Amino acid sequence: MMDRPRLTVLSGPSGVGKSTVVAHMRKVHPEVWLSVSATTRKPRPGEKHGVQYYFVDDDEFDKLVANGELLEWADFAGHRYGTPRQPVLEKLDAGVPVLLEIDLQGARLVRKAMPEAQLVFLAPPSWEELVRRLTGRGTESPEVIERRLAAARVELAAESEFDVTLVNTSVEDVARELLALMGVV
Ligand code: ADP
Ligand code: 5GP
Repeated sequence: MMDRPRLTVLSGPSGVGKSTVVAHMRKVHPEVWLSVSATTRKPRPGEKHGVQYYFVDDDEFDKLVANGELLEWADFAGHRYGTPRQPVLEKLDAGVPVLLEIDLQGARLVRKAMPEAQLVFLAPPSWEELVRRLTGRGTESPEVIERRLAAARVELAAESEFDVTLVNTSVEDVARELLALMGVV
């Protein structure tokens, strides 16, 4: 019987480059399956329903929670985000490597629900570089950036709770390291 691959969780402060690393990784290794979360935040330009996220309203999110359809969910900087449970379990059962890109609170909940999960922390080369990336992305207002930087301070302090830290200096290097941790290469 095929070994059930471990679930891998990638977390790290907003703006550190999680989406960029994951997008690169999937371009090189499309067989890695990335969970698509539900969120109550609005799409950024270019984001599509069902691709980056399932964009839902508060009522729909309430229903997902009430029906137990989420493996974990959390409030992040004023919006709710959650991982649909069933697709994750189906992929793991089918032997497909699964990656979740979620926040610190979500990572803690996954660790509780699935202790065999591997928790990976993506760290910025420096605080100044994190601020530069988050600001440079240009997708958030100054007020939202402030809220995300406040959350980032909390997330950076929790690095030691993770199994592994990867520093995002080079997207290609980090993507390769992450694939190795997932047993894909
Ligand atoms: P996150 O998903 O963690 O919030 P993003 O992937 O949106 O972060 O990246 C935030 C910004 O930082 C983007 O403008 C992205 O192009 C840039 N970025 C990501 N990784 C790097 C890197 N290794 N070096 C320089 N800039 C990067
Ligand atoms: P963003 O709004 O920048 O796409 O995401 C904000 C934060 O929410 C990021 O730290 C991202 O990893 C996290 N996030 C995305 N999806 C989920 C999810 O399903 N659950 C949890 N707990 N966090 C998520």
